[in-house]
Amino acid sequence: MRPTVYITRRIPDEIIAKIEEECDIRMWDETDIPVPRNVLEKEISSVEGLYCLLTETIDREILAKASRLKVISNMAVGYNNIDIKAAKEKGITVTNTPGVLTETTADLTFALLMATARRLIESADCLRSGNWKTWSPMQLTGQDIYGATLGIIGMGRIGASLAKRAKGFDMNILYYNRSQKPELEIELNMKYTDLDTLLRESDFVCIMTPYTPETTNLIGNREFSLMKKSSILINTARGGIVNENDLFQALRDGEIWAAGLDVFEQEPVCLDNPLLSLANVVTLPHIGSASIKTRMKMAELAADNLLLAIKNQTPKHVVV
Ligand code: NAP
Repeated sequence: MRPTVYITRRIPDEIIAKIEEECDIRMWDETDIPVPRNVLEKEISSVEGLYCLLTETIDREILAKASRLKVISNMAVGYNNIDIKAAKEKGITVTNTPGVLTETTADLTFALLMATARRLIESADCLRSGNWKTWSPMQLTGQDIYGATLGIIGMGRIGASLAKRAKGFDMNILYYNRSQKPELEIELNMKYTDLDTLLRESDFVCIMTPYTPETTNLIGNREFSLMKKSSILINTARGGIVNENDLFQALRDGEIWAAGLDVFEQEPVCLDNPLLSLANVVTLPHIGSASIKTRMKMAELAADNLLLAIKNQTPKHVVV
């Protein structure tokens, strides 16, 4: 009998066709609306495979209903949306899509750093709203990127790719990571520091760790108080790593100079989130990996992982 798979969002046709060669498919056939919890609860109870996105919370409660499930294939590198411990206890394989999105996410992170430092969104808005009256010496002046010190928190795949881009701008690179990376330090001419030193010395602080119990609220009041008043925080990792209330206060009170955010504690971010009221915040709707090529690669890798696990073979990327 062919296994059945539930796909939690409309994915590209060629990926559907690939999965359909080996499995029967049911799918939440929407592109912009996440699958409701009650639908997912019902569907998960009768399928062998789940192909899901980071928008789905796969917790212990929902997994309790998954009596036949063999694999959860997450179309993302981050898997904080899945209760890994509960999945492991039930013998369910969890897979993710690392690597294929590394360069695209590093590109976006550096783009956000540049946009925030040089006030690109604010400047474009100034022009369109008719406020560009004349050239003025200090109008819309920002922070230099060339020669500045970049502190990267989390020196994994994307952290290292970000450092490569920073090298091209002659930045001094500091990093803080769970483990030290001596070979990478030499290759990328970076210095390993403790977290507080990185925060004190950096002009830009970029967060590139996963979202875990250890990194939850890693950056809050205490950390902002250590940072330079001219410094810029960039977060393209996950929202909960930065305490948003503390970030708002730090930005409002001039404790740090600006922030660029691709991710939020709650997504989609509420329009009454106070961070959206600040001119010194550049916000994006979680588009780190959003290039056409990369999203196709992620969708395909998630399908490969799913199909291998369904056939009791080892997927390309196993979380547990
Ligand atoms: P990765 O290769 O696993 O790198 C993560 C790094 O964080 C590792 O070097 C790890 O240290 C370090 N780390 C983990 N816990 C830490 C802690 N408590 N303190 C300090 N360092 C810690 O992952 P990646 O592929 O670079 O992706 C990183 C994250 O970016 C993902 O988890 C995801 O949440 C986010 N992301 C966001 C987007 C977006 O669209 N905005 C796109 C892709 C990824 P070790 O080297 O010691 O293991």
